[in-house]
Amino acid sequence: MSDSCCPFCGLVCDDLRVAADASGARAGSPACARAIKLFAAPARGAARLAGQPVEPAAACRAAADLLARAQRPLIGGLACDVAGHRAALALAEQTGGVVEHMNGAAQFRNWLAFQDGGWMTTTLSEVRNRADLIVLAGTDTRRFPRFFERCLTQESQFGELRRRLVVLGSGLSPEAAHAVSPDLVIPLPNARLGELCGALRARLAGRRLDADSVAGVPMEQVDALLETLRAARYGVLVWNAAELDFPHADLAIQAMVDLVKDLNQTTRWSGLPLGGNDGDTSAAQVCTWQAGYPLRTAFEASGPHYQPLLFGTARLLETREVDALLWIAALDPERVPPAAACPRIVLGRPDMVFADPPDVFIPVAVPGVHHAGFMHRMDGVVALPLQGHTPTELPSVAQALAAIQQEMNHVAT
Ligand code: SF4
Repeated sequence: MSDSCCPFCGLVCDDLRVAADASGARAGSPACARAIKLFAAPARGAARLAGQPVEPAAACRAAADLLARAQRPLIGGLACDVAGHRAALALAEQTGGVVEHMNGAAQFRNWLAFQDGGWMTTTLSEVRNRADLIVLAGTDTRRFPRFFERCLTQESQFGELRRRLVVLGSGLSPEAAHAVSPDLVIPLPNARLGELCGALRARLAGRRLDADSVAGVPMEQVDALLETLRAARYGVLVWNAAELDFPHADLAIQAMVDLVKDLNQTTRWSGLPLGGNDGDTSAAQVCTWQAGYPLRTAFEASGPHYQPLLFGTARLLETREVDALLWIAALDPERVPPAAACPRIVLGRPDMVFADPPDVFIPVAVPGVHHAGFMHRMDGVVALPLQGHTPTELPSVAQALAAIQQEMNHVAT
């Protein structure tokens, strides 16, 4: 058994014990069910062209040929480690491609709010050690299976901390309700969270609201909630952009972010945007430090071209503005590529199964299982080390992309 960080959600839990032998890696307690399932990754897999097995070198050549012929490929998916993201950006630069993560739709709900006026956010450690009021807005954290265990039910390192929990939105799943007992639940549709936050801001500013209720919440309850928020010594508003899946959800996030800023005038408040699954925080960090923009960026002759509204995966494929798709999914075999009218190249986990086989499939090693690497946690403050537990002959994403680039250089000469 060795200590390990887990790459399979944005918490990147650093307390796992992983056993490895000839049959593969196994995550033991305290791993969640998702980690146990995804650590059991096969170490072998066959490269395929249109579903037919081929030698890995032939698959690399075919991928290089498709990319060399493309005018503007989409380098998508991007579910891998930091080294894979760096290699993906290098390939995008060489091919004039666009980079976008498979979770881009959710990520950009946050970035649109963030780039408009900034935000005040905190870290998982601060939540665990200092937050005395946590408000879950439109999420029960189910996509982050150990969030409650890691952040809410642990003792603070700094002495006694009485924590209160408020839930806004559609409530807790049975699993979440089993893990925590909220002090207050205010049911309302997620799509109306922005409205409620706007009303709270207005009341906080001393304005009168001529209404009996806001977003279905009676005015007396809105005012009582505001008093609870103001009484916190360190409040944290938690949301998950992936669960705020309605038109203009970035505006609801903007309202939450602005409420946090306003509450800071008299007490301490922070936001905590849950995310980081499938390496999406790492992808955004790497792209930002290399190109100055957080994904949805095309690498053109004139330099990086950032288009947060135009360069989403679904739109680019639907409008056929890209003529090849390179899809990277080294973490979760269920994240298969979307359908596309253009050729598709997939660098995926060896246990990925396709209903509609791509033109090229290259099986890759899983970071944190087959090879070491780094991955950013959801709060973006640390890149945690991933360990390699079981050796494999499969290339990492970075190695596979380097091999494709090498083949492209041969084609060019
Ligand atoms: S909660 Fe997330 S990071 Fe932690 S063990 Fe489960 S999948 Fe891994």
